[in-house]
Amino acid sequence: MGDDKRAAPRVSPKQPLPSLDKWGPELARSLLKPWQTVGSITGSALGRAAEGLRTPPPKALSALGSIANPGDAPASITVDAHLHRNFSKLMDEHLQEGSHERGGTLVWSHQHPGLYLVNDGRTRLGNTFVTDLQINGYHELKGGFHTHLDTNTGDIDPRTNPKGLIATSFGGADMAWIINNKLDVNVLYTGGDKDFMLLRTGATPSSVDHDQLKAEYMAEHTALEEGSRRQNAAEASQALNHKYAKKLGFALYEGKNGNFERVEPPP
Ligand SMILES: [Zn+2]
Repeated sequence: MGDDKRAAPRVSPKQPLPSLDKWGPELARSLLKPWQTVGSITGSALGRAAEGLRTPPPKALSALGSIANPGDAPASITVDAHLHRNFSKLMDEHLQEGSHERGGTLVWSHQHPGLYLVNDGRTRLGNTFVTDLQINGYHELKGGFHTHLDTNTGDIDPRTNPKGLIATSFGGADMAWIINNKLDVNVLYTGGDKDFMLLRTGATPSSVDHDQLKAEYMAEHTALEEGSRRQNAAEASQALNHKYAKKLGFALYEGKNGNFERVEPPP
């Protein structure tokens, strides 16, 4: 399902941490100068506003780390073409092999301002991509990317389930990972009809109990799969992603081909 606690949390969840209300804007200020062009993830809502004002290019990425509330996050986000190519290449590899999640680390480069994927590759642990958060000193950690590949054996109709693949969204461990590693973005590509993105906001807690969140999520996921309105893994995870995004103060996006729309909270 995704990153587990072996994804090297650098900060113990038990350790007291500064409030995100302070941390977010400070991080953003420390990362971004007012004149910097921030184009790796482009927020169209901010982009339109910028065009209207004839101000410098859209700065959606500057929003990473400084979004006060989920409702302040961009209504739509387009991933830069080079990132989408890298994400798609990893998804294609996963599709061809059929096992072993792919992924990588998203970093901000100060030398060549923009968001880049580093430490990318194939997990050795089957359905758990362990993100390598060791990066060089020129880069700033921003988040992670990984792939999910699931099939819905109950639906083999190619019209409703192309390739027999479904879009399974973030698991509880994926959410705990972004929170406890103090990261701003988690991008997920699937073999199904949708990809997903989570942005941390000022409303997101500074830490969570990884094991508890994972267990709680799994119990709810199982209940949805076994309930009277039985849901497959994609439906169950997507429903739970809305619920947990609200609970954990994330902005949640769905999309395809690198174009994402905010679905929680809806714009
Ligand atoms: Zn995952």
